Amino acid sequence: LCAIAGIWAQAGSALLQIGPLARGKQSIMHRQDLHNALKMLEEQGLRRRRRTLESPQGAHVLVDGKPYIAFASNDYLGLAGHQELIEATQKAVLEWGVGGGASHLVSGHFGAHERLEAALAGFVGQEDALLFSNGYMANLGVVTALVGRGDAIFADKLNHASLNDACVLSRAEFRRFPHNDMDALARQLETTPAKTKLIVADAVYSMDGDVAPIHELVALADRYDAWLLLDDAHGFGVLGPHGRGTLLAFEVSSPRVIYMATLGKAAGVSGAFVAGSAELIEWLVQRARTYIYTTSQPPMLAATLLKSLELIERDDWRRERLQASISQLKAGLAGLKWRLLPSETAIQPLIIGDNGDALRVTEGLRDLGLWVPAIRPPTVAPGTARLRISVSAAHVPDDIDKLCVALQQLAR
Ligand code: PMP
Repeated sequence: LCAIAGIWAQAGSALLQIGPLARGKQSIMHRQDLHNALKMLEEQGLRRRRRTLESPQGAHVLVDGKPYIAFASNDYLGLAGHQELIEATQKAVLEWGVGGGASHLVSGHFGAHERLEAALAGFVGQEDALLFSNGYMANLGVVTALVGRGDAIFADKLNHASLNDACVLSRAEFRRFPHNDMDALARQLETTPAKTKLIVADAVYSMDGDVAPIHELVALADRYDAWLLLDDAHGFGVLGPHGRGTLLAFEVSSPRVIYMATLGKAAGVSGAFVAGSAELIEWLVQRARTYIYTTSQPPMLAATLLKSLELIERDDWRRERLQASISQLKAGLAGLKWRLLPSETAIQPLIIGDNGDALRVTEGLRDLGLWVPAIRPPTVAPGTARLRISVSAAHVPDDIDKLCVALQQLAR
């Protein structure tokens, strides 16, 4: 316990140990140690700051009292502040109250949860689904319920942090393969002695915006008799027919696939779900600790999400507008000294490289009334600091135009 209880702050390439937490009195964390570690982050350009929104999410937001055109959220369909969802929430709060009151297995499982789970399963073409409070917990729950000591996990290097944390927590052997390298994955699967194998991948990578090689992943899971957990946090609502997600975009169906998606991004609210066979879902009800040992998501949110699902399915024009904005952005930034990564999704990363430069570009944009976050190590690899331009169906052509003109100006 002592060995893992130290807090480590990653500052550039150097790891700075700022003190173990649990080794008796002598080792209690000192305030000065934290102060020094924070200072070091500051000096390395790695200290992150929160901005305070004073309006709903949308293309136009108020931040710290100032209006911005925002390319900073995962509200890809522009639903987070949508009038129909606000009205659905008002109705739902009268029907269900504000809190879940208990965990699902005690007394916190409501009709609204039940109906949402059935609707989600049908929407993504799976037998059953289970709601979690958020995507982080869904990933921790599903991985630790399926594998443990003596099993093996094979994970893409660019997977989301919640998947990586889940893999460590599971105590299974945790092997990572280079991003999208299916040959490396096949070699790892070929040589493992483990009986239960789990492949874990983002369906759409959150900092690069590219889509995983879904057919190849499913073929490898089938060939090596492995589970395949696909995290579709950034594909659900955006990709596939009527936004049914990446699996249906690729017309893939396999009993080995476990589908996970979040409900705080394109769906505009909060929460997550895992979908698969009825047996898988019942196993998670029995064994997923982040499902069992936590208060249920407020049922009013589940009721709101039912409405959100209706809008996702109904409004194909939102996905069409999103695609038009993505094309406009790409055309508008062609020839810029900074390059967009090849991405067909709402996540359009503009690689700047140096941490300080990325910050300066972000600040320059902010001065021009545009909000685009800089993403720096350790979230992305050193030397690949970037602007994560997040496009939404809420943007109009003039918003995209303003961003392109501002970036051209800053590049000069
Ligand atoms: N998976 C991926 C790929 C994500 O990008 C995120 C959120 N950034 C999560 C999981 C976690 O989801 P949530 O925000 O609902 O906890």
